[in-house]
Amino acid sequence: MERSLVLIKPDAMERGLAGVIIGRLQGEGLNLVALRMLHMDRALAERHYAVHKDKPFFKDLVDYIISTPKVDAVFEGRGAVERIRTIMGATDPARAAAGTVRKDFGLDVQRNSTHASDSPENAEKEISLFFTKNEIFD
Ligand code: UDP
Ligand code: MG
Repeated sequence: MERSLVLIKPDAMERGLAGVIIGRLQGEGLNLVALRMLHMDRALAERHYAVHKDKPFFKDLVDYIISTPKVDAVFEGRGAVERIRTIMGATDPARAAAGTVRKDFGLDVQRNSTHASDSPENAEKEISLFFTKNEIFD
């Protein structure tokens, strides 16, 4: 079974959207196997987004992602990574397809409501940053 890390980002937390977004994923048949609320420190945020450390938006992105506590979740299912990316939609809400989470709730390219892993390999690495093995259920 494939797993993916989902983060409900500060813009969605501030508007009370965590439950709605988690509900959409569960409604698509994805299995919720880990859940918590966490206010990341800068070091963890920089590790999570390390692949973007040379991008011009990196510092702003880290400042934003640590601006409020957020909900962290792991979902499991056949093809979960790609299915969840499709449900979330394109990075920029303005370019995201109709009916996607980012189209419906995202505010702009940074404040796009959610993070979702982009490959099964990255998912396993990301999940291990946020959850220990005994915090993930089946
Ligand atoms: N981001 C940004 N400006 C950009 C591109 C991305 O602030 O021009 C932020 C946005 O919050 C995005 C995150 O950086 O979700 C990670 O970027 P990535 O390209 O990995 O997009 P994702 O995988 O989240 O769709
Ligand atoms: Mg990404």
